[in-house]
Amino acid sequence: MQANSSFSEIRTGLENGTFSCVDVVKHYLSNIQEKNPKLNALLSVYDEEALSQAEIVDQKIKNGTAGKLAGMIVTIKDVLCYKDHPLQCGSKILDGFESQFTATAVQRLIDEDAIIIGRNNCDEFAMGSSNENSAFSPVINADGENRVPGGSSGGSAVAVQSGMCTVSLGTDTGGSVRQPASFCGLVGLKPTYSRVSRHGLAAYASTFDVIGVFSHTAEDAALVLEVMAGEDEYDSTVSREPVLEYSKNLSQEGTKKIAYITETVDNDALNAEVKDSFVSKIEQLKAQGHEVEEVSFPLMEYALPTYYILTTAEASSNLSRYDGVRYGYRTPNPKNLEEMFKKSRSEGFGPEVAKRILLGTAVLSSSYHDAYYLKAQKVRRMIQEQLNALLEQYDFVVLPTAPTTAFELGSKTDSMEMYLADLFTVQASVAGVPAVSIPIGRDSDGMSIGLQVITRAFEEHKLLAFSKYLSDN
Ligand code: GLN
Repeated sequence: MQANSSFSEIRTGLENGTFSCVDVVKHYLSNIQEKNPKLNALLSVYDEEALSQAEIVDQKIKNGTAGKLAGMIVTIKDVLCYKDHPLQCGSKILDGFESQFTATAVQRLIDEDAIIIGRNNCDEFAMGSSNENSAFSPVINADGENRVPGGSSGGSAVAVQSGMCTVSLGTDTGGSVRQPASFCGLVGLKPTYSRVSRHGLAAYASTFDVIGVFSHTAEDAALVLEVMAGEDEYDSTVSREPVLEYSKNLSQEGTKKIAYITETVDNDALNAEVKDSFVSKIEQLKAQGHEVEEVSFPLMEYALPTYYILTTAEASSNLSRYDGVRYGYRTPNPKNLEEMFKKSRSEGFGPEVAKRILLGTAVLSSSYHDAYYLKAQKVRRMIQEQLNALLEQYDFVVLPTAPTTAFELGSKTDSMEMYLADLFTVQASVAGVPAVSIPIGRDSDGMSIGLQVITRAFEEHKLLAFSKYLSDN
């Protein structure tokens, strides 16, 4: 078995008796033991549980009763609940907290015999683009000594990249699956908003948060999505649109109409090598007979400010529950109740989270509500309408996933500079449509470059079929 084996390769090995599920788990555990001390992608490793689970799966395979995901070994981002296992959201404020139930998405994977082998490091409360905001030290990109893996699901990306698991779950609020996938040379899928239940996902910005998948192949992402998506009695906002068998509908038929956006290719923030790689992919698609056109998206420059106003507002409300009373950390020896709240929160949250809570509180305050929050909501609607109109005319919109490749640890000290990492991913998040990042090349330092593909809401089947086509061609 290879470190980067896809699930279908594992499944074939299991069916042919080349190896057992116990062997698969041992293979990942030895990679974890060797690589995790340096890469810091996992905060917990469930070794004994995974091994005993693997014995059960091997028995099921023998009996012919194994589920769809038997042999798939998974790690989950530290914002997803897994009953009786630690959950900290990369934060000190949840010190000692354990989940009392399992997130629906995670449970559905387990029900199909996937095995959860560990908990992924991430930026605190999923706020960040480099995984440097974790209270448990940064994650390191396996492709470069001093390079970040992207964020906020950096640990989930590196766990797959470095062969610690078959696939992983991350969350994408503004790019946190797509951007690290781009930085780590993986497929990273952000489904349509509401496609996957958020029950058991610690909320950052509830009208944006989506659970997504990191994998080596589009087929694996398709399979995971079809298992975890769909109606859920625990989440009233989840969509009732039927879930297709994405993994069985991956053949790409005919040529496609594809748009790319002037405001991204001509953007000053776009690194020259990323641009070259993007442009040559466009040329290749044209040569393959697809109709590829450049279009203008005038609202592009408003996507990032809209995203940061609305997500900080939602975060300030969602994170008010961490008050020192109900969960995790409480300041020792407070003088009175008010000081207990204040100190628990000031000591428990890291600086980026604290900043966003303050910003969000400001944009929701009566003096700024109309000027910022309300206006951002209106702009969100305009971006949604403009993008949906574009997607009526084209099958796909393609853009570079991120303006740069993985940058060096500690190199972005200014918040604004860091926020620019999401420049091209927030558009799909603001609009709530599905998007994927597919590796298309490497820069001269050997760092991976991703192509982002966006399509209409609930058309993941087309997106995944096109992703497979892009990976195969
Ligand atoms: N980097 C973005 C942020 O910091 C996106 C995070 C995410 O998608 N969770 O908010």
